[in-house]
Amino acid sequence: MSDETSATTPETTAGDQQVVVIGAGPAGLTAAFQFHKHGIASTILEADDMVGGISRTAQRDGWRFDIGGHRFFTKVQPVEDLWHEILPDEEFLMRPRKSRIFYKGKYLDYPLRAFNALKNVGFLEATGYVFSYAWARIRPPKDQTNYEGWLVARFGWRLYRALFKTYTEKLWGVPVSEMPADWAAQRVKGLSLGNAIVNALMPKRNQKDITSLIEEFQYPKYGPGP
Ligand SMILES: Cc1cc2nc3c(=O)[nH]c(=O)nc-3n(C[C@H](O)[C@H](O)[C@H](O)COP(=O)(O)OP(=O)(O)OC[C@H]3O[C@@H](n4cnc5c(N)ncnc54)[C@H](O)[C@@H]3O)c2cc1C
Repeated sequence: MSDETSATTPETTAGDQQVVVIGAGPAGLTAAFQFHKHGIASTILEADDMVGGISRTAQRDGWRFDIGGHRFFTKVQPVEDLWHEILPDEEFLMRPRKSRIFYKGKYLDYPLRAFNALKNVGFLEATGYVFSYAWARIRPPKDQTNYEGWLVARFGWRLYRALFKTYTEKLWGVPVSEMPADWAAQRVKGLSLGNAIVNALMPKRNQKDITSLIEEFQYPKYGPGP
């Protein structure tokens, strides 16, 4: 697709309605798809030279590169149904998750596993994190409207500084204290150090409830992008 040109323009129209969708990321493509199903033609304007937004799959020399692995996991049935409407079952694979946290030169299993986390972090340091978390529970940050306050209330200052602050600022390129809390709520959905510990001690307990802890997810065979 070239700059600001039409991506899809189905023939069918409902009345004189003219719809322009800005952006050919998942949201724009889904909107245009839904319009199309209702017989309304739409034009997608995309500034980039390819569709998919930040969920794109770029191709080079015959290889496909997903710009950030995109797990397909939802508790919303209409969304699940839409994915299966678009992709045939044989191209929508269930994959086991394998995530690791690179922490001070060591790889920690994620979701955390009690023995693995203790072995890699060390008993003293782990105790420090638990005390810092307990302190944050007793004296939570007054302002939890930004990402920093929200995270500190759920993980404690120590873990926030060691892990979340640097990771998040590298990922988004914005100081954590300037990000609104709902970004955190979206990324870390329902997780806190408390339930990460409970999950580490009793694996499989929370995995369907807390998106960050799920052990398996669906993934399109050829990547999330077109
Ligand atoms: C590292 C990372 C990992 C992620 N992992 C997951 C995951 O595992 N599972 C999951 O479900 N989600 C994940 N996400 C979130 C997911 O990528 C986004 O929710 C999704 O891409 C948002 O889609 P969107 O269409 O709203 O925006 P975008 O994907 O940002 O697309 C917006 C599009 O609009 C275009 N555009 C913007 N402005 C204009 C303009 N003025 N004119 C024309 N075009 C314009 C852009 O070029 C872009 O193509 C992840 C995100 C990141 C960064």
